[in-house]
Amino acid sequence: MILPLNNIPPALIMVGDATSTLNTTITYLQQLFCTRNSCSTCSTCLLIQQQQFYAATWLSTDKHYTLDDLDVIFSTTAYALQEQDKHFFIINTADLLTPACSNSLLKMVEEPPAGYHFIFLTSRLSAVLPTIRSRCTIITLTTTNSSLSSHALFTCFTNQGSLSPADFLKILEQDTTHERETLLIIDALITYWHNKYQQATMQSNSQEAQQAQKIILALQQALAKPPMPGSSKLFWRTLYLTFNHLL
Ligand SMILES: [Zn+2]
Repeated sequence: MILPLNNIPPALIMVGDATSTLNTTITYLQQLFCTRNSCSTCSTCLLIQQQQFYAATWLSTDKHYTLDDLDVIFSTTAYALQEQDKHFFIINTADLLTPACSNSLLKMVEEPPAGYHFIFLTSRLSAVLPTIRSRCTIITLTTTNSSLSSHALFTCFTNQGSLSPADFLKILEQDTTHERETLLIIDALITYWHNKYQQATMQSNSQEAQQAQKIILALQQALAKPPMPGSSKLFWRTLYLTFNHLL
């Protein structure tokens, strides 16, 4: 998926590993602000690279975000921008936003003052609170997801209704997915269905939107009880049974 240079959404979540999301964000800001075709050598490009550019505020934390960490967002947005001007807030490891932090941001993220934009970076979309997630455009970096989305188990849960229990068990039997990879696949599935949900909503297809919502919920419930070492197959079988009702 390509980051938009026009009609930039008020808030987006970029999903991928820390290095890729950081580099992609820097390149994106350079594309937006550099007047020399994101040359990467002018002062604008260098300041963006060093996270010192005036129109981009970077937030990060080691543990969890506190409400104090977010003060800068409210103090900055208190000033109206000139028409044409833009300002970005980049929130690293957005999965470390506590519920209180996320709630304090909801209104701002939904309708930021003109010219302000949010970019949430995370390696685990499912760990970002749903209230934030549902207000954001989600961009999954292909470097992270290309191998996952071609994974046999991934396709089992996207191909609607076409997979018999016997076929599924056959795939599962041959599968060697470990617990950690299982979580990554579930994460990729949540992104997949989230995009389906947004598409359906845009097309006012309430039936598909509802279905996608139920599936996202089922995936989240599955994530709440992640597989124990050695129990990935059981985990997937349980999920398949739940899905059969939803597809
Ligand atoms: Zn430049």
